[in-house]
Amino acid sequence: MPLKNKTTLEIDLSALAHNYKILRAETSPKTKFMAVVKANAYGSDSIQIAKKLEDLGVDYFAVAYALEGEVLRAHGIQKPILVLHPQRDQLDEILKLNLEPTIYSFKGLEEVIAYSQNQRVPIHIKVNTGLNRLGFKPSELDSVIELLKMNPSIDLKSVYSHLIASEDSQSKAICQGQIAAFNKSVERFKKAGITIPLRHMTNTSGILNYKEAHFEMVRSGIGLYGFANGTYDSHLKPIGSLKTVISKINQLSKGEGVGYNSGFVADKAMRVATLPIGHADGITRIYSKGKAAVWIHNQPAEILGNVCMDMIMVNVTSIECQEGDEVILFDQTHSACEFAEGAGTISYELITAIGPRVNRIVKQ
Ligand SMILES: *Cc1c(COP(=O)(O)O)cnc(C)c1O
Repeated sequence: MPLKNKTTLEIDLSALAHNYKILRAETSPKTKFMAVVKANAYGSDSIQIAKKLEDLGVDYFAVAYALEGEVLRAHGIQKPILVLHPQRDQLDEILKLNLEPTIYSFKGLEEVIAYSQNQRVPIHIKVNTGLNRLGFKPSELDSVIELLKMNPSIDLKSVYSHLIASEDSQSKAICQGQIAAFNKSVERFKKAGITIPLRHMTNTSGILNYKEAHFEMVRSGIGLYGFANGTYDSHLKPIGSLKTVISKINQLSKGEGVGYNSGFVADKAMRVATLPIGHADGITRIYSKGKAAVWIHNQPAEILGNVCMDMIMVNVTSIECQEGDEVILFDQTHSACEFAEGAGTISYELITAIGPRVNRIVKQ
């Protein structure tokens, strides 16, 4: 058995099942459910998460890049897998792995057309309704439709788009405008005699806030750790807990510094705990100098000075604790959203950065 780090990310599959049930209850039973497991299921463990979700009955998976789909197929995931952002010259591998590419530009469509001369090629068309990342603009769709009609071996699986700020009530008008543009776009396919088996537009917060846009399928990261803007819907449970233990406690006198460049200087006699987690593990330097706190015996201990590669130091002056005691960075009580917020970022950035050195423990 290889050695495992004491610093662990505990993944609670019962919380995942809970969240899936809650989100499923928001949609009609006829609506299909696509689980988004990109970026190692948001920094957790995409294989374990996908296996559990397949058991729970999700209809589709989505990954960002083809290599993430390859991992899922290698571990026996059977359900269709959409590649949200396929890259150039990988179509051959994508089709061999039975993955389904998003087509988001004319270059991509040309490549698919070439392949479709010899085989049926499943594709998903992305429409850009305002995010301006990937996808065809509505004004480009007539050409897309024409090309699809001329190449009947292209197997159109879905047409989809993505909301700009589905979690933000201030952005209601913008999202509603996107939904209207999407409706008009799919109407053009219909008018041209092309059947769209699935339309999809909503992510997790979209499922909750835009019921009118569920269409035939919804897409969701299942609220693995909260929503992109750092809020958490109270009905969902965070599935991950990041924990470590105290390595050493130092007594400091007034005027002594802590860490590189003495990023913190004691203004009185203090006790400082050193923890075995650093920026190599995803606790980046944005959390330096009190921008985040960890929890020891349920009391907050703020990060002192600069985050090091393998360590952080925290203030335990008023906390009764000793070497070996448990430390929580986030869990179901102290959310990842809260941890991230203090440093001005979002939970998604925090969790997807959790490095490979951190031990993953999956609890059924
Ligand atoms: C990441 C992603 C999602 C999932 O978003 P959540 O807010 O985590 O549910 C859905 N659709 C697209 C296109 C994405 O990139």
